[in-house]
Amino acid sequence: MAKRDYYEVLGVNKNASSDEIKKAYRQKAIQYHPDKNPGDKEAEDKFKEAAEAYDVLSDEQKRSRYDRLGHAGMGSASQSGYGGGGMTMEDIFAQFGDLFGGHFSGFGSFSGFGNGAQRGRPMNRGADLRVKVKLTLKEIATGVEKKIKVGKYVSCAKCHGSGAENDKAYTTCPTCKGHGYITRITNTLLGQMQSQSTCPTCGGEGKSITKKCPECNGEGILRSDEIITLHIPAGVAEGMQLSMRGKGNAARHGGVNGDLLIVVEEEKHHELIRDENDLIYNLLLTVPQAVLGDSIEVPTIDGKVKVKIDPGTQPGKVLRLRNKGLPSVNSYGTGDLLVNINVYIPENLSTSEKEKIKAMASSENVRPSQSVKDRFFSKFRRLVD
Ligand SMILES: [Zn+2]
Ligand SMILES: [Zn+2]
Repeated sequence: MAKRDYYEVLGVNKNASSDEIKKAYRQKAIQYHPDKNPGDKEAEDKFKEAAEAYDVLSDEQKRSRYDRLGHAGMGSASQSGYGGGGMTMEDIFAQFGDLFGGHFSGFGSFSGFGNGAQRGRPMNRGADLRVKVKLTLKEIATGVEKKIKVGKYVSCAKCHGSGAENDKAYTTCPTCKGHGYITRITNTLLGQMQSQSTCPTCGGEGKSITKKCPECNGEGILRSDEIITLHIPAGVAEGMQLSMRGKGNAARHGGVNGDLLIVVEEEKHHELIRDENDLIYNLLLTVPQAVLGDSIEVPTIDGKVKVKIDPGTQPGKVLRLRNKGLPSVNSYGTGDLLVNINVYIPENLSTSEKEKIKAMASSENVRPSQSVKDRFFSKFRRLVD
């Protein structure tokens, strides 16, 4: 399914302020809220779509990335594990529940979210995991699938992530009486002040485990290696970050998984230099090649190609090999390969070779005319103004 533009999803324009975005999202979330549309798959998709759009547009960094690179920059649509639907319901309520949760009572299967969601228990969230992936220009040119081994926390299979030996191995947290937060009342000059914070005993879960799962020692998570398949789209660049939602560390006691963040590292090519989607190859001709012309092989991403050097080729000339560069990560179109020509003037000639050059020195033909000079220096004129 092709993704809709996030601005379009929320019905705001590209310059919308963060307040406008928040307001628009709130409206959509209430309109498509699962409590209002029970069993309506289309409403659920719309609800998720809006949450994903809000997730991006409410975050200054993600938003500017999206503005520049579109969906491809978010590493979403093509990423496996992201699942076509983007965020899960758990993610949405964990992240944005406070924006609309208070207006609805109880949210069916997700206990702990709906009831009194203004101060709902904080959902445990696993830490994000960051991996670097090194790519050659050739891999970047085509896009690539990479399998990597990642050491991370995974949910304990024995207790299904709960950390408890069985369903009954719980007791209500004595510190917070199951609320997940504690209220402090302090006396000040202005009267009593009330503040609430997450319960330090149960970490906001509202219950404690009486019999720990022996496998994970009550944590609900275990250290393990996982093989993850990364789908790297063509055209990515050094420093770009792709994310796979939910592929990071599992959370303690069965919360929401963190994300896997994939940071692109570009391996330097030994001959080609990248300039955004173009590639540059520096070619140094000999004097005879520049004077007489030649046919020369230049490297490209997929092998060498022959390039014709015209007789009388000047240093500074750039040959453009169309579509021999890199594809754009965000749109159609491919960059070019620019062959940047310079001429090597020999530094160590023998006496007899120098004699041959001297013989040419008096010829009118080795002197540039005024029009040649004009052509030659036209692009440098600005430097001496
Ligand atoms: Zn366990
Ligand atoms: Zn507690």
